[in-house]
Amino acid sequence: MKKKQFKTESKKLLDMMINSIYTNKEIFLRELISNASDAIDKLYFRSLTDSSVGLSRADYSIFLSVDREARTLTVSDNGCGMTGEEMESNLGTIAKSGSFDFKADGKGEGEVDIIGQFGVGFYSAFMVADKITVTSRPFGSSVAYKWESEGVDGYTVGECEKPSFGTEIVLHIKEDGEEESYSEFLDEYRIRTLVKKYSDYIRYPIKMEVTRQRKIEGSEDYESYTEVETLNSMVPIWKRGGDEVTEEEYARYYSEKFFDYEAPARVIKQKSEGTATFSALMFVPSHAPYNYYTKEYEKGLELYSSGVMIMEKCSELLPDYFGFVRGVVDSSDLSLNISREMLQHDRQLKIMAKAIEKKIKSELEKMLREEREKYEKFFDAFGVQLKYGIYADYGMHKDALTELIMFKSSREGKYVTLREYTENMPEGQSEIYYAAGESIARIEMLPQVRTVKAKGYEVLYLTDEVDEFALRVLGKYGEKEFKNVTAESLDLATEEEKAREKSENEDSSSLLNYIKEVIGGVAAVKFSASLTDVAACLSTEGDLSVEMAKILGRMPGAEEMGAPEASVVLEINLSHPIAGKLKALFGNDNETLKKYAKMLWYSACLVSGIALTDPIEYTSLVAELMSND
Ligand code: ADP
Ligand code: MG
Repeated sequence: MKKKQFKTESKKLLDMMINSIYTNKEIFLRELISNASDAIDKLYFRSLTDSSVGLSRADYSIFLSVDREARTLTVSDNGCGMTGEEMESNLGTIAKSGSFDFKADGKGEGEVDIIGQFGVGFYSAFMVADKITVTSRPFGSSVAYKWESEGVDGYTVGECEKPSFGTEIVLHIKEDGEEESYSEFLDEYRIRTLVKKYSDYIRYPIKMEVTRQRKIEGSEDYESYTEVETLNSMVPIWKRGGDEVTEEEYARYYSEKFFDYEAPARVIKQKSEGTATFSALMFVPSHAPYNYYTKEYEKGLELYSSGVMIMEKCSELLPDYFGFVRGVVDSSDLSLNISREMLQHDRQLKIMAKAIEKKIKSELEKMLREEREKYEKFFDAFGVQLKYGIYADYGMHKDALTELIMFKSSREGKYVTLREYTENMPEGQSEIYYAAGESIARIEMLPQVRTVKAKGYEVLYLTDEVDEFALRVLGKYGEKEFKNVTAESLDLATEEEKAREKSENEDSSSLLNYIKEVIGGVAAVKFSASLTDVAACLSTEGDLSVEMAKILGRMPGAEEMGAPEASVVLEINLSHPIAGKLKALFGNDNETLKKYAKMLWYSACLVSGIALTDPIEYTSLVAELMSND
């Protein structure tokens, strides 16, 4: 039989397939099974309008078999089949699928990725086979044809015998090389795993003759026998009716699929028709995966095109701040042969992503309303991510997230949302108070926190690094601005206290200036009338709080670039005996005054968690004072 040549671009692709070093060679099986399913679809749809076809849905199937000796893997179907001419035009030329059009520009880059992620149809079989024989008989015809090829040299087509209609594809699997093994594709177990992974939701049964062992009755010996088994589950769990699937089934599906020992905190089901047609089944995990807060974690939903898996982690479908959501999305709007690059720009995909984001948001809000305890546990695991989402991209997404965040507070040490906080505000409170620190215990030690609490106001406790940055991006909630209780501008003093502060600070301005010089590096030193019991504390002027400055100082590169510093104010308690002491020393014993000033400064730093600039000086001062009579 005369060899025919492949069209030029087919040859290029074929060559790429044959020499593919791609590790995901396994996708060839998905491609062949999808083709078989498409062919059955065609015949099935014909049967709906043409009663002479005389087949019912149950008659259709895809059949796999392996012959280890002959090194063949066979995929057959009872679909529409192909005529000889169709074989030539369908298999002799690469289908004009999107992925190849892309590649034909000759850019070359990303080739490997395209093969692996999306496959390029029938030719992908050449990644694992050195010879392919296709025999096919169209439904209703008595003539069958055989197409055969060993690769780029070309192919032959001729008439042959085939007892039943449909298509049979025999792959002669390559010999194992030094570095590559192909024999795995002759292993029943491996084939079954691949069907499960990629083709579990093909609508027709995928059957395989499997060999099993059984004990011979009345003997200790075993014998093998064969049995036909259906490998795929056909109807995806997300396509089954909402009431039909129990919570346990969803939980089992989730833990098997995403290897989580704990049931999901929430199951999210979404069906959309109209601008985008898709169904999604998503899960909010109950706890963060061990690598969640590392670079290793990859967000994304598993993407299916009409039941066929095309991508394991489609990151475009999830915003970063909902990156913890796991699940699958199945759309009939996407082509099986879409490349990753094209997918990124796909309009349909963007519409889907928008709808999915909206759905997740509303489900989380519902969970917050209806299942508080669960939500708090969820928030323990992923709250940082949500708060980071507010801060990221200059606050672009804050509206989606504001209602979802919570902070522990001074009220009962429990989580409150911003809504709850503002609803609980007593008459006359005009700002939302917060304090930041490395732990609640540390925050509760801040003198200003005690002052604000004593006035009957609730204080939000910010213990995550991102917290204060997120609140700064929000600016306000409703009409209420956020206020750090350690801000110098915190205005909680009574009129009487204010008047006293004003006159005392004016009278002692030279003393305060002197102390400021002694300490060095502070923006101001002043007397305060509203502090409760401490001798002194720190507050800050301007936008940058002490906690924020600390965090910025820890960022990579901060040291070289010079991290911004907070403008720190030392506030000395007017009602504390130390105030009078300082006044008395000034001008009489400035040497002692200097030491006291420094000690006050160091103690205030300790309370605020600021590293002492000179701990040795501090300890010597303490020791010296202890040695005095
Ligand atoms: P695509 O599936 O994107 O069209 P393929 O390279 O996978 O591209 O297949 C090329 C064409 O070959 C198909 O469009 C179909 O017409 C034909 N074909 C492949 N496999 C079969 C089959 N099992 N039965 C009938 N036709 C088939
Ligand atoms: Mg195909």
